[in-house]
Amino acid sequence: MVTRQHETHHDEFNPWLRVASLIEQAGHILELDDGLIQRIVTPERILEVSIPVRRDNGKVDVFTGWRIQHDSSRGPGKGGIRFHQSVNVDEIAALSADMSVKCAVVNIPYGGAKGGVKVDPDTLSRDELERLTRRYAFAIAPMIGPDRDIPAPDINTDPQVMSWIMDTVSMLRGHSMPGVVTGKPLAIGGSFGHAGATSLGVTICTLGLLKQRGLSPEGQRVVIQGFGKVGGPLIKLLTDRGMKVVGLADIHGAIHVPTGIDAHRMSDHFGEAHTIIGYPGAEEVAPDAFFTIPSDIAIPAALGGVVDEKVASTMTASMMVEAANGPTTGEGASILAERGIPVVPDVLANAGGVVASYFEWAQDMQGFMWEHELFTKRLEKFMQEAFDSVWVRHQQLGLELRDTALVVGVERIAEATKLRGLFP
Ligand code: NAD
Repeated sequence: MVTRQHETHHDEFNPWLRVASLIEQAGHILELDDGLIQRIVTPERILEVSIPVRRDNGKVDVFTGWRIQHDSSRGPGKGGIRFHQSVNVDEIAALSADMSVKCAVVNIPYGGAKGGVKVDPDTLSRDELERLTRRYAFAIAPMIGPDRDIPAPDINTDPQVMSWIMDTVSMLRGHSMPGVVTGKPLAIGGSFGHAGATSLGVTICTLGLLKQRGLSPEGQRVVIQGFGKVGGPLIKLLTDRGMKVVGLADIHGAIHVPTGIDAHRMSDHFGEAHTIIGYPGAEEVAPDAFFTIPSDIAIPAALGGVVDEKVASTMTASMMVEAANGPTTGEGASILAERGIPVVPDVLANAGGVVASYFEWAQDMQGFMWEHELFTKRLEKFMQEAFDSVWVRHQQLGLELRDTALVVGVERIAEATKLRGLFP
C-alpha cells in the first residue's frame, strides 16, 4: 500500500510523498479542481508479487517485487524495472509518477509506470538472476503488454534482463512479442540509436539553453560529473558542437584539463586504465572541488543529491543541465535559483532515453526498423520541441525551469484526463 499523506506526515523523506506533493502544487498553479488533482496524483494500479527462486544449491528463497501503473490517460504505462536491495513500494510509486510527468513533458503517448524487485543482484548467480527475472515477468505478465505497460532497463537491469522478460511473456502469450519491453538487443527488436540517446537529449537541451541566453556554443567550458552510459558519449557530442569539456569526474576522482578533453584520446585512455584518472596532461582535482573548476556549464551525470547547499554556493558555472536523475537537493536548487543559475531539470534534460524507448516500441509495433539517421533526426526534433515548450511556459509563468517542466507535464495529463472523462 502506498503511503498516504495523513499516515506519515512525519516522514519528510518519503519519496512518494515528495512527488505527490509536487504534482499537487503544479495542479494548484494550474487551478485544477481538487478531484482532478487527486485523480492525477493517485496511482491507478499497484501489483505486489512474491517471487520464489530456486537457488543453485537447491534451496528456495522468496523475494518481493512490484509493478505500478501510475497514470494511463495519455497511453500505456512506460517505465523501468530495477533490481536493488532498497526497493520498496513508496519508491516505485514515486518513480512511476515521475515517469507520467516525464512522458508528458516530452509529449510521447505514454503514461507512467515503474517496477522493481527487492533483491541484491550481486548475491545471485547468472542462472539465479534469469530464474528471478522470468518468475517476476510471469507474475507481472497480466499487467504488461505493448498496449498496456512497457518496461525498460533501470538500475541493475540491462538488455539481457529485457530479453528474458520479452521471452517469458512471448512464451505465455504463444507468439513473439518484441513490443512488450524496450532496451532490447538489436537482434530481437532493439533499435539503432538507443545507446547514447540520453546524451543526445542532454546535448539538445544544453544547446537550447545557450541559444535562449543569446550565447554561442563555441568555446563554452563544460564540466561533466560521470563518465558512464550518459556522461561518456557527451564529450564527443559537445565538442563536435564547439564546446570544450574542461573537467571530468568518475568514481575514482576528478580531472581538470583547461585546453579541453579529446573524446577519442579519453576513450583510448579509459580503455586501458578503466578510469579517467591519468589522462595525459590532466591535473587531478579533489572530487569535492569538482564543480569549482572554472567553467560555464555544469552537467552532473552520475549520482543523485550531489548538488547540495555547499556545491550550489561554490559552483562556478553559470548554467546547469541535469543529466543524472535528482542530482540537486532542495536546498541546492534554492541557492542556484537565488544565484540566477538556470537549471534544465532531469525530467526534461535526460528524457532522450525514454523518447528512444518510444521509438523502439514504435518500430516493433510497425515491424519496420528505421535507419539510424531517421532515428537521430526524430529524437532531436522531440527533444527540441520539449525544450521549447518548457521554455515558452517558463517565460509565461516566471517559474524556475524545474517547476515549469512539472506544470507542463501535469497540464498535459490533466487535459487528457478531462477529455477522456470519468468511467463509468
Ligand atoms: P553508469 O553507471 O553508466 O555511469 C555512472 C558514472 O558515474 C560512472 O562513470 C561512475 O564512475 C560515475 N560515478 C559514480 N560514483 C561517482 C562519484 N562518487 N563521483 C563521480 N562520479 C561517480 O550510469 P548512467 O547510466 O550513465 O547514469 C548516470 C545518471 O544518469 C544516473 O543518475 C541515471 O539515473 C541517469 N540517467 C541515465 C539514463 C540512461 O539512459 N542510462 C537515462 C536517464 C537518466
